[in-house]
Amino acid sequence: MLDKLKRQVFKANLDLVKHGLVLFTWGNVSAIDRNSNLVVIKPSGVSYDTMTLDDMVVVDLEGHVIEGNLRPSSDTPTHLALYKAFPEIGGVVHTHSTYATAWAQAGKDIPNIGTTHADYFHEAIPCTADMTSEEVQGDYELETGNVIVKRFEGINPIHTPGVLVKNHGPFTWGKDADEAVYHAVVLEEVAKIAAIAFTINPNLTMSEHLVEKHFSRKHGPNAYYGQK
Ligand SMILES: [Zn+2]
Repeated sequence: MLDKLKRQVFKANLDLVKHGLVLFTWGNVSAIDRNSNLVVIKPSGVSYDTMTLDDMVVVDLEGHVIEGNLRPSSDTPTHLALYKAFPEIGGVVHTHSTYATAWAQAGKDIPNIGTTHADYFHEAIPCTADMTSEEVQGDYELETGNVIVKRFEGINPIHTPGVLVKNHGPFTWGKDADEAVYHAVVLEEVAKIAAIAFTINPNLTMSEHLVEKHFSRKHGPNAYYGQK
């Protein structure tokens, strides 16, 4: 079942290791098949060293395991909330990558202050609000998804494909698992550059017209970056 998607998700999970975004088991990738509304996700707490293709778990949008011998990632309800709220996305990534997590722990949006950021994220990368004790003690991972969705009121999730969950870490997404991983790598790099830049000059700025130029040359109606 969903063999191609499983291979994509398995490879994408290993790519998190390759790109230095995860230690131990601190990360997960999923992808959705929009025809069947089934999601393939990493199993919970399985080491990347020993994980195999057959360990990938298939769940439905309510979180029921449809195929697989292992329990799905504990973050599955967060992934599912994002797939339900953002119908255009096909893959989701969660990591505790160092610099993005540092911004999350600081509780700060990453302002759009450079062209690397503007090439991939139109807005500041938003940080979510504090979760209430009811949210944390209730269905915590689902509520984590809900606070992300709430934070994106008025923000286009395709133009800004990532978020910082306060005191926790980043989630990113994309049209598929590969693109979600790509955005996780870019987010970590943008977070690192911004942290260093603010250390050099806490009063730095970037003009709106430069943001618009960089975002639109890749993503606008008249995009011209890259090959046709
Ligand atoms: Zn986490």
